[in-house]
Amino acid sequence: MKTTLIICIFVLGSWALYPGRAANLTYSKVTVLSDSIKLDPICKMKVQPSTVHKSTFNKQEYLFCSKGCKLKFDQNPEKYIKK
Ligand SMILES: [Zn+2]
Repeated sequence: MKTTLIICIFVLGSWALYPGRAANLTYSKVTVLSDSIKLDPICKMKVQPSTVHKSTFNKQEYLFCSKGCKLKFDQNPEKYIKK
């Protein structure tokens, strides 16, 4: 009787926890997409925040898709950040 009860709690517990976990995963994925992915100011490509091609100008960090874009930016940053 005791064992049945424990199994029952386990099944109910995993049923209750699993959808929550799945929803959390979806939520963090959406957050990463909207907040952390930046645009390369040179070619307007989306850049992963983990990129090694970065530059800081006016205390603002810019991310680049490649070394080439970073070099172009470094040579004339103001040209690329003008709105
Ligand atoms: Zn680029």
